[in-house]
Amino acid sequence: SLTDVRAPVALALQVAGTTGLPRSAGLPDSSFASDGQITKSPIRALTLAALAPRPGLHLWDIGAGSGSVSVEWCLAGGHATAIEQHANRVANIRSNADSFGLTKSLQIMQGLAPQAFAGLSPPDAIFVGGGFNAALFDGLKTLAPPACKLVVNAVTLETEALLTQLHAVHGGELLRIELAHAAPLGRMRGWVSARPVVQWSVVL
Ligand code: SAH
Repeated sequence: SLTDVRAPVALALQVAGTTGLPRSAGLPDSSFASDGQITKSPIRALTLAALAPRPGLHLWDIGAGSGSVSVEWCLAGGHATAIEQHANRVANIRSNADSFGLTKSLQIMQGLAPQAFAGLSPPDAIFVGGGFNAALFDGLKTLAPPACKLVVNAVTLETEALLTQLHAVHGGELLRIELAHAAPLGRMRGWVSARPVVQWSVVL
């Protein structure tokens, strides 16, 4: 209902005859404060599916940007720690946690991975949306409890190459996501392709 703590965003998402937030991940990008560095809705939906949130579980969202992945994890009943280096993005994460009524479940750490991990309670799942490299992977493998799920999204060739190597050694799922959306092309329409995203999901 609209008396729900999530009312501000729920109201913005109101559609014909229904109120409240949809239960699925992949909310519109426009429902989050961001500077444009945000995991886009369809990629975010696939990312949440790979992370497999469940009530009570703890997510580390590394390179959290706007915190959209943390928000959708928390909406599924979990709690999250969003780690982000840039102060202006940390402000967006705070604003998003507020407008979704998630200030209790979404903890925000301004800082750099891996230094920012010190003192955090252990994760059940880890998402890396920025700052992934071999040293970070080694650190996470050491720190993460058994059966922790790791999901990494790569947009650069360098990170993609690293994920390809790690997949050969550690297994898991490697998914290449190529999407296009229709947009005006003169008086007609044409497909605009998004950059491919390579997503690696593995149980550590
Ligand atoms: N998933 C986010 C978008 C991530 S963009 C969203 O939906 O909004 C990648 C982010 O990673 C950027 O904001 C960048 O500042 C951050 N980042 C990159 N390396 C980092 C590091 N080592 N520690 C913390 N943040 C990092």
